[in-house]
Amino acid sequence: MELNIIKGIGDKTITLLNKLNIYTIDDLVNYYPFRYEILEKTDLNSDRVVIDGVVETNPVFIRLRGKLDKMSFRIRLDDRICNVVIFNRGFLRNNIKINTTITIIGKYDIKHNTITASDIKFGSISSLPKITPVYHTVSKITSKQINNYILKVIDDIKVTDIIPSILLDKYKLIPKSEAIREIHRPDDMHLLKNAINHIKYEELFLFMLKMNELKRNRVKVIGIKKDVDKNNVLEFINNLPFKLTNDQLKVVDEIYNDLTSNIVMNRLVQGDVGSGKTIVSFIAIYINYLAGYQSALMAPTELLAYQHYLNIKNIFKDYNIKVELLTGKTKNKKKLLEDLKNNKIDVLIGTHALIEDSVVFNNLGLVITDEQHRFGVNQRSNLKNKGTNPDILYMSATPIPRTYALTIYGDMDVSSIKTMPSGRVPVKTYLKKNSEIKEVLTMMYEELKNKHQIYVIAPLIEESDKIDLENVYELEEKFNKAFKEIYKVGVLHGKMTKDEKDNVMESFKNNDIQILISTTVIEVGIDIPNATMMVIFDSYRFGLSQLHQLRGRVGRNSLQSYCILISDYEKERLDILTLTTDGFKISEEDFRLRGSGDLFGIRQSGDMSFRLADIKKDYNILIKAKEDANYILDNIDNYPYLNKLINDNHLS
Ligand code: ADP
Ligand code: MG
Repeated sequence: MELNIIKGIGDKTITLLNKLNIYTIDDLVNYYPFRYEILEKTDLNSDRVVIDGVVETNPVFIRLRGKLDKMSFRIRLDDRICNVVIFNRGFLRNNIKINTTITIIGKYDIKHNTITASDIKFGSISSLPKITPVYHTVSKITSKQINNYILKVIDDIKVTDIIPSILLDKYKLIPKSEAIREIHRPDDMHLLKNAINHIKYEELFLFMLKMNELKRNRVKVIGIKKDVDKNNVLEFINNLPFKLTNDQLKVVDEIYNDLTSNIVMNRLVQGDVGSGKTIVSFIAIYINYLAGYQSALMAPTELLAYQHYLNIKNIFKDYNIKVELLTGKTKNKKKLLEDLKNNKIDVLIGTHALIEDSVVFNNLGLVITDEQHRFGVNQRSNLKNKGTNPDILYMSATPIPRTYALTIYGDMDVSSIKTMPSGRVPVKTYLKKNSEIKEVLTMMYEELKNKHQIYVIAPLIEESDKIDLENVYELEEKFNKAFKEIYKVGVLHGKMTKDEKDNVMESFKNNDIQILISTTVIEVGIDIPNATMMVIFDSYRFGLSQLHQLRGRVGRNSLQSYCILISDYEKERLDILTLTTDGFKISEEDFRLRGSGDLFGIRQSGDMSFRLADIKKDYNILIKAKEDANYILDNIDNYPYLNKLINDNHLS
């Protein structure tokens, strides 16, 4: 139904509502308040005073500069008379009449016996609605107007329950028609809570219905059954420069089973930074190679792609496997693409340059995405479409706790590498203030004397490349002064060309540079074991998981490594990093502190745009919804309307 059937609504209002993505009556009534204002009488000491009284004096109105105005008058409360000041409500001045009762919301200043009001309502508290819905809005339309339009239609619309009645009964939820009315016209807190739970549960239930259905369907996708003798794989593993951890072996096993089955692999490998995911992906590539197929490995940055390239060439050096690197800056691209098409390249490593149309494989059998959360859903699926049902492997340093991952990546199998390679010593982490820089320099000096190398993440003053650069070079000067140029300082930032970056990285790798100052370009994946110290300026600007990733650049062998977080703020939050090196715990904490809004990659993909539910805060509901959705799917023939909903609206 169109919005223009609402009495008193004009084109102008409709245009404004459209800005809020409200196009139909249905959109309108499903536009939920983001919070409620509770009107309950308080005393004057309260942080938010809500009080009613009788107007004693006519308001004095003053126009201030710009469009600002100020109004003041006196009010008689139960036990005293006090002053009221309110800004920018001059338009109400004719309504404030002596001897009428009004309600005031604001803050009381005892010294001046004045309430600075943020809002005025006409009538006594008891005469006003106790719970008022507050909607997100755009200028020229108020939250109250939105509510008014909704209330004009809310009793006439037909609302049918989506949640099956057995589940409504199970959770004692009120019917949806009542829930919607309660949400926009709340009666009491108890009912309102039930109503909100109804909507949240419905959102999560539908989401899990789709996710579980995807998972069930995917099992049926037939892919390439790769015929590879396990002994050949074991031999390859035995020839590696190190012994795989049990977790790595377990994941390799899972991948081997996936690749040699005729069902398409869709597997996420999660593992803390430094847990050794890369080698696992190389083994997958090797299995795929033995079966006679090409592999693609996509990394989020050029540096990382380049490092993978060097790394895999080294691992494959005794084998006749042709590996190439493709990034935006690859020279002689034409020849490379030609070779790729003619099956003269077995493994192509690269950045998102891999997904360009000109990149055509001969027989792509395996697609790997490193740091998968860095890519959007579309980028990932573009790569996989370069083959015919290729197997897919995602690698992630766990921005998401496993329990959540299992639930929200419903359509993937998840493998976890939990243990670190043996001999690793946990990184010692310290939190320092900028004023303690001398101590930091001393600690750096100790490491340098021991012939170790240091990463430094330069401060980020603003999100401006220019200032970041100045910071990088300023630090370079500072360190040169402090260490009297005995130790060589290098810089790395996003504005450098690939060659420049490669040169710097190469020098750092060869220990020609001892201190590498960088913007966050080195954040992911870089692997230089002799670097044993990570110094991060302005640490408070980063999420805990991101800092943990940065810290993961050190502690990559049996040497004691250090991480120094420099920050003048947010000590409590950053202290978590000084207490644990468990990436799962840290991301859990990050999650708790910042909510699911930071689930990068997922929000981005739009797969989870809930109106009321929050997968973090409402995790308990999510888990119930997941179980219930599975039960309903088992009996889906009894719910034809749900079957239709799932199939109409497939997730990408
Ligand atoms: P991440 O999981 O963060 O991607 P990497 O795959 O880069 O970690 O591995 C970190 C380092 O550990 C690399 O130098 C790698 O060669 C090394 N490594 C991986 N597995 C083992 C192992 N089983 N034993 C010893 N070192 C290992
Ligand atoms: Mg990695």
